[in-house]
Amino acid sequence: MPATQSDVSGFREVHQHVLKLALPLPFELESVNVYLVALDDGYMLIDCGMETEPAFIRLESALIARGFTWGQIRRIFLTHMHPDHMGMSKRLLDLTGASLAMHEAEAKHLSMIAGAERRFPWLDIAYAQAGVPKGLEDTINAHFAEVRRNFHPLSPDMLYSGGEHIPTALGPLEVVWTSGHSPGHACLYSKERKLLFSGDQILENITPNIAWHPGRDMLGEYLDSLRRLAELEVDLILPAHGEPFSGHRAWIDETISHHGERCAEILGLVAIEPRTAHSLVGDMWRKKLSPINHHFAVFEVLAHLEYMQRQGRVRHREENGALAWYA
Ligand SMILES: [Zn+2]
Ligand SMILES: [Zn+2]
Repeated sequence: MPATQSDVSGFREVHQHVLKLALPLPFELESVNVYLVALDDGYMLIDCGMETEPAFIRLESALIARGFTWGQIRRIFLTHMHPDHMGMSKRLLDLTGASLAMHEAEAKHLSMIAGAERRFPWLDIAYAQAGVPKGLEDTINAHFAEVRRNFHPLSPDMLYSGGEHIPTALGPLEVVWTSGHSPGHACLYSKERKLLFSGDQILENITPNIAWHPGRDMLGEYLDSLRRLAELEVDLILPAHGEPFSGHRAWIDETISHHGERCAEILGLVAIEPRTAHSLVGDMWRKKLSPINHHFAVFEVLAHLEYMQRQGRVRHREENGALAWYA
């Protein structure tokens, strides 16, 4: 049977010169999208999927079905360094000989953790301060061991700081720095076509995880970058998870209010009695979370606490090695 436009395993044209393919993920979030954008000579691949055999086979067979060869991929652009986006990049760079491009802040962040035997060096302190029990921390760490295989050291050929334009068959794609979901997350924007490759910055039915990083206000950075995206004219959002959709301004308004509500919820809880980030998770996520999701929840709560601390709405004091937050 010939492959059709709706063939879930193959590339689908979502706009002239743009092909989308969903690659499987071994998570609750079931797939990640990669996009092929036509260049004057060959294609640019936006994101790479996770380093798993099913994802690799899906990508390879989709390329073959379209009659493409690896060598036609001349450039790889990574929106950010999360494992579902960069995991397969090393393998694909070897196969294609493509040049690699990403935001300089993301490359710097990756260089700090890639190749390290262990997880982020500052996580030990962060877990202790958040009040995460040692047993749970060990379980989370064991679950992450598999994911850490995806962090390879990479040597990008092009580093962007935001504002640069990549020439493509669509016209120039502007690199838009959108820190928050990760420090050097970048979207690609076509002003002419009103298209936004949004990575994990804007996703259809979910809000991306915003995780605390030492010394930074990740939620503040995320909300600021959303406000800048709201100023752009966009007809079609091409996200890294889920289907393309329209209405970025409504999505941005809803997401900003969602984080406002989350802040209010935390404020209400810490006003009753001082609380650790770990204990807040139990109140805010009513279902039982998997160890990895518990980790994300703790860091999301910490990002909200940091944001409110900078606004003078919450403070903390040390209690038995952990930080107790109060209004
Ligand atoms: Zn991500
Ligand atoms: Zn993602």
